Amino acid sequence: MVNPASGVVVGEVASLSLAEVDEAVGRAARAFEGWRKAAPGERARVLRRFAGLVDAHLEELALLEVRNSGHTIGNARWEAGNVRDVLDYYAGAPERLTGRQIPVPGGLDVTFHEPLGVVGVIVPWNFPMPIAAWGFAPALAAGNTVLLKPAELTPLTALRLAELGREAGLPDDVFTVLPGEGSVVGERFVTHPAVRKVCFTGSTEVGTRIMAGCAAQVKRVTLELGGKSANVIFADADLEKAAATAPYAVFDNAGQDCCARSRILVQRPVYDRFLELLEPAVRGFRVEDPALDTAEMGPLISAGQRDRVAGYVDGAKVAFTGSCPEGPGFWYAPTVLLADSPADRHWREEVFGPVVSVLPFDDEADAVRLANDTDYGLSGSVWTRDVGRAIRVARAVEAGNLSVNSHSSVRYWTPFGGMKRSGLGRELGPDALHAFTDVKNVFIATEE
Ligand code: NAP
Ligand code: MG
Repeated sequence: MVNPASGVVVGEVASLSLAEVDEAVGRAARAFEGWRKAAPGERARVLRRFAGLVDAHLEELALLEVRNSGHTIGNARWEAGNVRDVLDYYAGAPERLTGRQIPVPGGLDVTFHEPLGVVGVIVPWNFPMPIAAWGFAPALAAGNTVLLKPAELTPLTALRLAELGREAGLPDDVFTVLPGEGSVVGERFVTHPAVRKVCFTGSTEVGTRIMAGCAAQVKRVTLELGGKSANVIFADADLEKAAATAPYAVFDNAGQDCCARSRILVQRPVYDRFLELLEPAVRGFRVEDPALDTAEMGPLISAGQRDRVAGYVDGAKVAFTGSCPEGPGFWYAPTVLLADSPADRHWREEVFGPVVSVLPFDDEADAVRLANDTDYGLSGSVWTRDVGRAIRVARAVEAGNLSVNSHSSVRYWTPFGGMKRSGLGRELGPDALHAFTDVKNVFIATEE
């Protein structure tokens, strides 16, 4: 593990072998027999204690994420707090996981939400803590046991969270973190028949292969994949606010965010004015040592990611850039590109770095057409003062999470996930347990 802000090694974690993964699957399958039978109130109590311990170790977890992932301390605190909140929220679920009683002739008909068994959660490096919790918290609440594979680059907070879970009273082998390679540990979640569901967040390329692999066993799968989300700004919008917030919507976490609004569409009459307002906001964006309270952006995760990002900027039309520190670490300055057309590579592909592309549009129909001209469909924003238009456009954009006059995507109370090639299924929100259970219908004859 390397600190992305300095390039200095911060620790080593051994990668598990296939045999070790198989042993862990076996243990998790045996632990399931006990955990599924634990009283709902008992599962709730353990998850609440787990949330309390995360809260008590919030600063420690946040600092660990700053060192391992280069996240700003402000973001890392939010991320650890999100794990606490997600655990708290789903601690309320086991006691409310009710089925239905359906009127039928000749008897009583009831449904149960049965846990699936062992659930494998595969986590990427961009948000190691929250993405892990969106999988393990509802999965555990529903009575499943969980195996979690963190990204090779960022396993430290996941390992610490598993320790806190044990301390909270999770029984042996109910929640286990398995560090290692995607092609070994992650792949085994797909091929091992005792793993009954895979929850994957990462690239569309790997996600597509995971879905194909799961098909062989009709294994349940949830996919949260890439994005190329549009930030649509109409001429009647609060332009000052739209321009002041646009950098945060794409440069947060150094743009390594599947929800990044990396395509800005601006209505033609205000295109020049919007860029004038955007420039000082980008130049003033604070890219600095992520451990500083004032930091708004830190480094990229790795040298490889930096090279990949730079490849998109090479030869493109740069409008202006922000600044970043010199010296060691994987730094990249926030960059605004002008797209010549929707065919530009930086307009079409997910950059996963602090790069945003801007393109003008003519009218509402044109905006919707351009916003939807992508294989992805994760998030998006609409800026306008016309309520009717805001609703029309939000309904017309093919994406799972839209925000109007704001850029929020992830709130643990509400469902999150993508349309088209951005994913399959939804996480978070009131229905998340349904993604970790199968409905069972039972008919009881009452006739003599
Ligand atoms: P990735 O390769 O899809 O990795 C995501 C997770 O899947 C990691 O834990 C990875 O393990 C694991 N994995 C890799 N190959 C696997 C396989 N064959 N079977 C099962 N699991 C496997 O993503 P990445 O390499 O980290 O990033 C590449 C690009 O994906 C990014 O630049 C970005 O465009 C996109 N991405 C999107 C999101 C998102 O939130 N939607 C998150 C991250 C990345 P290892 O750590 O061993 O690779
Ligand atoms: Mg990869």
